[in-house]
Amino acid sequence: MEDFYGTEYTGGTMRQSQFFTKTRKDTPSEEVAKNAQLLIRAGFIHKEMAGVYSYLPMGTRTLRNIENIVREEMDALGGQEIRMATLHPSEPWKQTGAWDKVDVLFKIDSRTEKEYALGQSEEEIVTPIASEYAPSYRDLPVAIYQIGQKYRDELRAKSGIMRGREFGMKDMYSFHTTQEDFERFYEVVKQAYLRIYAKCGLVAKVTEASGGSFSQKISYEFMVLTDAGEDTILYCEECDYCANVEVATMKEADACPKCGKGNLKTGIASEVGNVFDLGDRYPRAFGFTYKDDQGNEQYPIMGCYGLGTSRLMGVIVEALANEGGMSWPESVAPFKFHLVNAMANDGEAVAYADELYDLLKLRGASVLYDDRDVRAGEKFADSDLIGIPYRIVIGKGVLAGEEIEVVNRATGEVSRYDREALVQQFTSQAPQADTTE
Ligand code: ATP
Ligand code: MG
Repeated sequence: MEDFYGTEYTGGTMRQSQFFTKTRKDTPSEEVAKNAQLLIRAGFIHKEMAGVYSYLPMGTRTLRNIENIVREEMDALGGQEIRMATLHPSEPWKQTGAWDKVDVLFKIDSRTEKEYALGQSEEEIVTPIASEYAPSYRDLPVAIYQIGQKYRDELRAKSGIMRGREFGMKDMYSFHTTQEDFERFYEVVKQAYLRIYAKCGLVAKVTEASGGSFSQKISYEFMVLTDAGEDTILYCEECDYCANVEVATMKEADACPKCGKGNLKTGIASEVGNVFDLGDRYPRAFGFTYKDDQGNEQYPIMGCYGLGTSRLMGVIVEALANEGGMSWPESVAPFKFHLVNAMANDGEAVAYADELYDLLKLRGASVLYDDRDVRAGEKFADSDLIGIPYRIVIGKGVLAGEEIEVVNRATGEVSRYDREALVQQFTSQAPQADTTE
């Protein structure tokens, strides 16, 4: 896998002794969700209040890697990245009626007596923006996206970073002249989403569901099986059929309506994204018309495509963690290699590890170096908790001339290399089959 060697997502090195954050042994008592417990213990996030977290260095690196995977896929399908305001005037929300209808909308009073809203989704902002630059059919289609914070007055916030009152989302909006063009694009986005989840080490199922509060049209939800999720789905084990039980007319053990071969199973899942056909609702609300090739004013067809970046990070923790702690796929891990000096008070071991660290650093590898003056057992436990994909261990054996052990966090598999081969292997541009998936 190319990511294994590249540094574009997770470049950079760090000495663990330099981190301003520390791991902690106790499980935060107020957290019930595994993702929040592990992320807090490992020093990835800091809780501000229920449903609101700050991201610390390793959490920021991980979230940024996820965002970059999303960004790459959105750019590839022609999406143009922008950054919209999150503090909104109330007027566009009143114009669409959402001011009174959307129960999760945070409304803010001001000393100027003006009212504001915090962005919970951005149709109200993006539609007027797009309208300004698309007077003609020649200006369409267009797809605009951003990656940033959303605010929602959620009633329940017990799933750690999987359901926040402030959370990360990629939201894209597209405008088209015809339904066919919209549907073509819809399908392209669906495939991009599936690639994003796969790159994040997850398997997503696609449900067909009825639209949300504003749309009666068909939409897709992207679901990842995890007991930490809040949705129940019915899916076929033989094919890709999947439905949300909320809308499905089938039940468990029914024959699959799609392939007819498998029986339906029930599973708990988390919604990591969805795409909606919004029709011309928002263009109508904001008077967004374009001139077609006959010179007639028309409303464009609009789609929206949400993907919860911070929820995705939580789902990765939930889905891939084992007893020891987290286990990040290479593509999103805060670092790819955890260089652990198991003999912190041995001068020779320190010199060896320092030198190897410098060498890996020089070659552009992404390494967290545990140079702390603590016992080996504690380092290994922390290493398991943090969940960096490959652990390079410097201990007695290495000093005695034995090969260096590299432990795969996900599988526990141990590979051995002499120093040159290790540096070569982990910093080379040419992947070798035995250490990649
Ligand atoms: P849910 O049913 O889980 O509340 P939603 O239907 O409200 O999700 P959208 O409004 O379409 O979701 O938002 C797009 C994506 O943002 C969702 O698919 C999900 O991945 C993520 N998301 C939604 N609400 C939250 C939240 N409170 N915290 C974290 N992520 C969220
Ligand atoms: Mg919701």
